Amino acid sequence: MDIRLGNGFDVHRFTTGDSVVLCGVRVPHDSALEGHSDADVGMHAVTDAIYGALAEGDIGRHFPPSDPKWKGAASEVFLAHAARMATEHGFRIANVDCTLICERPKIGPHADAMRSELARILGIDAARVSVKATTSERLGFTGREEGIAALATAALVSA
Ligand code: MG
Repeated sequence: MDIRLGNGFDVHRFTTGDSVVLCGVRVPHDSALEGHSDADVGMHAVTDAIYGALAEGDIGRHFPPSDPKWKGAASEVFLAHAARMATEHGFRIANVDCTLICERPKIGPHADAMRSELARILGIDAARVSVKATTSERLGFTGREEGIAALATAALVSA
């Protein structure tokens, strides 16, 4: 059996707005996240983890921010592309684990909806998808609520 692991990391800064999209779920907040696409920092980290496991670069390579085509794009497009590439390379996604780093908004009440949404796009059972969160104890840019960071790991096994 061939096993591949990949990691992903992403950051988006806060801007004015009334909600953020995290792992495919719109969460009411007193700011929005700034980005070329929908700025879904969690989904971007998961997408990069899958590209990483495949040694296939990163989101920026497949969906260049310089291309106006991806302006305001739903990040589902990116994640679905990574999942399709995994299949094309002869792998299935064994599990993904995503950690969102922010003081606010509270992630816990939305975590299961986020798991379901990622699982739907990846075409795997939600039991194979983890979404969790931590604060940075008010330290650094996440602690000052300047933005949200996300880390992700993906494990792929030969199909
Ligand atoms: Mg991003």
